[in-house]
Amino acid sequence: MLIVPEREIADLMTREAAFDAVEKVFAAMAARDAYNFPVVREAIGHEDALYGFKGGFDQAGLTLGLKAGGYWPNNLEKRGLINHQSTVFLFDPDTGKAKAMVGGNLLTALRTAAASSVSIKHLARDDAKVIGMIGAGHQATFQLHAALEQRSFEKVIGWNYHPDMLPNIEKVATEAGLPFEPVGLDGMKEADVIISITSAFAPSLMVDHVSPGTHIACMGTDTKGKQEVESALLAKSSVFTDEVAQSISIGEAQHAVAEGLIKESDVGEIGAVINGTNPGRTSAEQITLFDGTGVGLQDLAVAAAVVDLAVEKGIAIEVDF
Ligand code: NAD
Repeated sequence: MLIVPEREIADLMTREAAFDAVEKVFAAMAARDAYNFPVVREAIGHEDALYGFKGGFDQAGLTLGLKAGGYWPNNLEKRGLINHQSTVFLFDPDTGKAKAMVGGNLLTALRTAAASSVSIKHLARDDAKVIGMIGAGHQATFQLHAALEQRSFEKVIGWNYHPDMLPNIEKVATEAGLPFEPVGLDGMKEADVIISITSAFAPSLMVDHVSPGTHIACMGTDTKGKQEVESALLAKSSVFTDEVAQSISIGEAQHAVAEGLIKESDVGEIGAVINGTNPGRTSAEQITLFDGTGVGLQDLAVAAAVVDLAVEKGIAIEVDF
């Protein structure tokens, strides 16, 4: 069995490799060559932790495994560790033998950023110039980095519920040589692409804050009850997702579906757009919205890619297991 420790991931994994892995697995999911197993998520009654598994099998890429981990809210304060902790385990689909154990913390951020980035590649207008960020926490910086590679953006605008966090995303914009402007939510009308990545339970972005032709990637809502955008915005948009079942139950579409504003059949798969079986954006005025809920297969895809890179560079630790 091969081990790739968390400390090695930053030097091994690139945004390009994460993008390719995620784009391929979304395509495989839509072609029904890959599927996710039901998610297990439990409050374990210890350290206020939420722990669970996300797994799946990609028959096209021959990737089988799971990501185990979750959220330990006291880690940072008590132990100086990050609160989100996860590890990916890969198995040989021919034999069932454990194949690799991979640190999953940085990979989670990279695969989540790759997902919105894939949606921008396939759904945003080619002439998009202004990108708007809603959220300025840990994931937001990864999101912005990856998104900037997809179009010739000329300006970054940002709004955050906690304005003191905005310098986090300003730094990414500045490093990319782009001007950054903090705006009110109304200012998002200027954006051609909007990424929302917050832990909100009530909508911030409303229909009136979005101009025709915008592409929105809603990346924060991954649990029942969370919500980042007004549900009427989904009714006004062409909605796409990584996995429809998750989108309508734990993703941003849960609210619009529950309120009867859209139906399950209104939610398209990003993989189908990648495969060319769904046309995706069909006009410059259309609002497209990607509901990125986060699936186990994304984790397995980036973990498999990082194992290959680690083997190539002689960094993977081999143990007899
Ligand atoms: P973080 O704690 O670093 O940042 C949280 C962000 O949410 C900050 O910008 C904060 O200002 C904002 N926020 C907090 N309360 C808010 C409120 N009431 N209204 C509006 N904004 C509010 O968290 P993070 O690691 O950046 O994660 C952000 C979200 O992304 C979380 O909800 C997390 O579960 C989700 N996430 C999704 C995926 C996926 O695959 N879709 C993957 C990883 C994380």
